[in-house]
Amino acid sequence: MNYDVVVVGGGPAGAIAAKYAAKNGASTLLIEEHANIGSPVQCTGLISTAALNECEIGAGNFVLAKMKGAFVYAPNCEELKVEGKDVKAYVIDRKIFDRALVESSLDAGADMLLKTRFTGIERGKISVISNGEKKEIQAGVVIGADGIQSSVGRAAGLGRCEKYLSGIQFEAPYAAKDPEFVEIFTGNTIAPGFFAWAVPFNGMARIGLAKNPGADPPLYYLEKLLKHPVVASRYRGSRTEHVLGGIPLGPPAKTTSNGVMLVGDAAGQVKPTSGGGIYMGAVCAKIAGEVAAKASRKEAVLNDYEKRWRGAVGRELAIGMRIHKSFGKLSDENLNEFISFMNNPKIREIITEYGDMDHPSVLLQKLIQSGDKKQLIKLLGVAFKTLF
Ligand SMILES: Cc1cc2nc3c(=O)[nH]c(=O)nc-3n(C[C@H](O)[C@H](O)[C@H](O)COP(=O)(O)OP(=O)(O)OC[C@H]3O[C@@H](n4cnc5c(N)ncnc54)[C@H](O)[C@@H]3O)c2cc1C
Repeated sequence: MNYDVVVVGGGPAGAIAAKYAAKNGASTLLIEEHANIGSPVQCTGLISTAALNECEIGAGNFVLAKMKGAFVYAPNCEELKVEGKDVKAYVIDRKIFDRALVESSLDAGADMLLKTRFTGIERGKISVISNGEKKEIQAGVVIGADGIQSSVGRAAGLGRCEKYLSGIQFEAPYAAKDPEFVEIFTGNTIAPGFFAWAVPFNGMARIGLAKNPGADPPLYYLEKLLKHPVVASRYRGSRTEHVLGGIPLGPPAKTTSNGVMLVGDAAGQVKPTSGGGIYMGAVCAKIAGEVAAKASRKEAVLNDYEKRWRGAVGRELAIGMRIHKSFGKLSDENLNEFISFMNNPKIREIITEYGDMDHPSVLLQKLIQSGDKKQLIKLLGVAFKTLF
């Protein structure tokens, strides 16, 4: 087998990269180690309207619910209502969504092999185990869209991400306060360094959390979350669809090397403020596919991808990482103070106007311009001072 571009990994980033490589005239092969696309799922499936637009597959039957805002809970249970003017995000079924993305890459002309695992690369020849048989595939360019563990990244000698959060989640019947609002829970006793959530859909919710590495295992915190007064009053018992997964934050110094490029979780293209990877993965996968196709014809070099994706999302990622670090340092008392500060009508108006889950830096800038900079700095500390 001989292809201009081989994409390893049939997740959202891989499917979109394969589509864009094929659209740009490259013979393209997408390989996926599992027998099915989109399974096992390691995701809450909450994506912004902008992320869905970026995926170019419309709002298909994978949309389970539409979200207009969020209730954010301080450790002391004070509630902050963050309301958008209209639909801000969708709750999706990742199995159907991922399949729709792969179908759109096949429509664009890419080939696909399931049950085919990448095992190594040497001088443009990749080794795979396909349906139990060892095979070799000649590839002009290899795109590693193989997620957080990225064996392509390791084989190419590319570095690791700065940090890995651990996440855990399950689905259960849940009497949400409002079925169009996501619930976010903060506090170091339930999600140290990050946050917990309940994302409602059809009388159910995906209930979970992500936390800093180290400390106790995620299950320990999940049990604590279920005892949180707000969650306990809405959780209706039983658990299905367990998910345990990592979230990579902070891209490696380089995402390209000899004939190889990384995209999506493999490249740490994940928002450090929310742990969401679909939006940035989609933005970067389009660039990856296009540059790979051109590079296979010697019309571009892989470094063009490095420059273009960092130009597109690098600043948002860097600011997001600093916000993540600033928030990670807050004690429960600080978090109570911060949420109480955000809960004043003037600030809530700014959040409604400028809140954008893909670009939190825009909101932060507006909050700073609102004249409450001193208060924010007091709450978020020195790290925050250097943000802008
Ligand atoms: C608990 C949790 C909740 C999350 N919630 C959200 C959310 O609400 N919204 C959001 O935007 N993001 C969320 N994320 C992050 C999101 O799931 C990822 O960012 C996204 O799936 C990354 O897409 P990807 O295509 O880069 O990688 P993946 O979706 O991980 O796909 C990688 C693919 O590569 C395949 N693969 C791996 N190794 C090989 C190999 N050697 N050979 C062949 N195939 C291989 C895998 O089987 C997989 O199909 C969440 C993550 C976690 C852990």
